[in-house]
Amino acid sequence: MRIIIIGAGPGGYETAAEAAARGIEVVLISEGPLGGTCLNEGCIPTKALCAMDAPDQERKREVITQLQGGIAQLMRNKLITLVEGRAKLCGGRSVEVGGTVYEGDAVIIATGSVSASLPIPGAELAIDSAAMLELSEVPQRLCVIGGGVIGLEFASIYRKFGSEVTVLEFCPNVLPRFDVDLAKRLKAALAKRGIAIETSARVTAIEGNKVLWSKNDKPFETEADCILMAVGRRPNLKSLNLDEAGIEYTPRGIVVDSNMQTNVPGVYAVGDITGGMMLAHVASAQGRRALHHICGESDGIDFSVVPAAVFTVPEAACVGKTEEECEGMEIAVGKANYRANGKAVASGEADGICKVIADKASGRILGVHILGAHAADIIHEAAVLIALGATLQQARDIIHAHPTVSEVLFAAICSCK
Ligand code: NAD
Repeated sequence: MRIIIIGAGPGGYETAAEAAARGIEVVLISEGPLGGTCLNEGCIPTKALCAMDAPDQERKREVITQLQGGIAQLMRNKLITLVEGRAKLCGGRSVEVGGTVYEGDAVIIATGSVSASLPIPGAELAIDSAAMLELSEVPQRLCVIGGGVIGLEFASIYRKFGSEVTVLEFCPNVLPRFDVDLAKRLKAALAKRGIAIETSARVTAIEGNKVLWSKNDKPFETEADCILMAVGRRPNLKSLNLDEAGIEYTPRGIVVDSNMQTNVPGVYAVGDITGGMMLAHVASAQGRRALHHICGESDGIDFSVVPAAVFTVPEAACVGKTEEECEGMEIAVGKANYRANGKAVASGEADGICKVIADKASGRILGVHILGAHAADIIHEAAVLIALGATLQQARDIIHAHPTVSEVLFAAICSCK
C-alpha cells in the first residue's frame, strides 16, 4: 500500500512515521520545513521564549534545529520518500509536485493554517505570531490585538521581557472558548502582573503606531512600538486545487467525516486544514484516525476529550466540558486552591485554582479547568479520568503521592458537591 501525505507538520510527519512502522510506503510532500508551524513558528519556539529572560534567537534556533534533526531521523526510513515542493491535487488519489505525478492508495492532506488578519485600514502595520518570534529587540510598548491563546502567550512572554503590554479583545472575556470562571481569573492574574487587558474592545484601524479601538461606542487609541495581530488562524486552502479535484470545503476548512475522509473516497484531511480545534495533538490524533480507516481498522480516540493548555504565567489548562457547556444539566462543582497545596506553597507557586465539574446524578467527571503552575502537565490525569468515564468516587479512591502539585486535582475532586 502507498499513502501520499501533503504537509510535514505534526498531522503529516507523525502519520508518515506510523504508516511506515506498519510497513506502508509513504510519499511525504512538503513545501515548508519538517515540523510545520508547531516546530518552526508555533508551539516549540514560543515555549523556548517562555523559558528565557530576554529574546535569544540563537537559543531558539538551536531548539528548532535539534528537534528537526529528530524528525529527519524518523523520516530516514526506506519506506518514506520526502518530496520538497507545493502539491496540487489532480483528482482521485493522484497528486502533482513540480511536474511529477504521484499515485497513491490514499491521500492525506495536512497543510495546516496561516495567521488571519482583520479587514481594517492599516492592518498591514501589525505583525503576526511568526514575525513576533523573529524579534531580537524587546519593544517598549506592545499592543496585542486578540486575547486568545496566541495573544495571551505573547503578552505574558513580553511582559516578562519588560514590555508595557496592552491586549485588546473583541469578546467580553479573554480565551472565549474556555470556562468563563477560569478566563476571568486568568485575566485578573495577568492584570496583576501589569498587563492591561481591554475586553469588549472593537479595533477599527491602525494608523502609524496607533491602534484605534472603541468600547461601548467610546473611541480609544493605544500607542505601541509593536502591534501583534492574533485574531485566529485560517486553513491553508490555497493552491491545493480543491475545486478541480472535486473536494468539498468551506472558508472554515476541508469538510471531513468522522474518519477524516473528504467527499472523495480515499482522500483524507487532518489538522488545522479541517478548521476544527487547531492544536498539534489534535492533528496527530486525526492522522492516526485517518490511517486506521485506511487500514480498515477502528479505534477508540475520543475527540470530545482534548486537553488544551495556555502557556501564560500562570499557566492554564482544561479538558472536557466548561460550566457554560453544562447549562441545563445538574452538575456538581468542586474547587481547590493552590495556596492549600503544600508543594505549591513550598515552591513559591501558590497562586492558582483547580475546578472540577461532574454530573450530579452519576458522579461522572465531565470537565476539569486549572489555572496555576504545572496546569499543562496536571491536566492529563483529568483527561484520563474523563476518557475512561471515571466517577468522583472512583477518582477519590486513587491514592495520590504527597507532596505534589497534582494533589490540587485530587483536592478539587474531593470537594465536589
Ligand atoms: P484564538 O481563536 O485562540 O483567539 C483569537 C482571539 O482574537 C479571540 O479571543 C477572538 O475573540 C479575538 N478577536 C477576533 N477578532 C477580533 C477583533 N476584531 N478585535 C479583537 N479581538 C478579536 O486564535 P489565536 O490565539 O490566534 O490562535 C490560533 C490557533 O492556534 C488557535 O486555534 C489556538 O488554539 C492555536 N494555538 C494553540 C496554542 C496552545 O495550545 N498553547 C498556542 C498558540 C496557538
